[in-house]
Amino acid sequence: MDCIFCKIAKGEITSHKVYEDEDVIAFHDLDPKAPTHVLIIPKKHIESAMDIDQHNSALIGRIYEVAVKLAVQLGLDKGFRIVNNCGEDGGQTVQHIHFHLLGGRSMAWPPG
Ligand code: AMP
Ligand code: ZN
Repeated sequence: MDCIFCKIAKGEITSHKVYEDEDVIAFHDLDPKAPTHVLIIPKKHIESAMDIDQHNSALIGRIYEVAVKLAVQLGLDKGFRIVNNCGEDGGQTVQHIHFHLLGGRSMAWPPG
């Protein structure tokens, strides 16, 4: 399968990794939208939030745990945002589920 995030998870494409365990990997976004912009993904290919179910929801919970640990490690003590874009209207451009950890500036609400 030609999935860029699967390739990053397997180490076939280089990334600036900030976290890795058996199931989860986190790396800096190539095109950061905030002073801190990290992507947290499952190593396993899950296409989008539409595919979260009883079999993989614990893994999604672990991703949130990792995101919050990274937020603390990266010094986002004033707050941060965790975002999942799902589908075309959600703005998803990579079809491998991922969670954006954004921080280092004040975030607008509602998002555009
Ligand atoms: P989304 O638009 O929610 O699907 O987010 C995809 C994100 O992946 C974008 O913020 C891109 O900048 C980022 N991205 C795409 N390719 C890479 C890559 N090779 N390494 C790091 N980030 C990437
Ligand atoms: Zn994938």
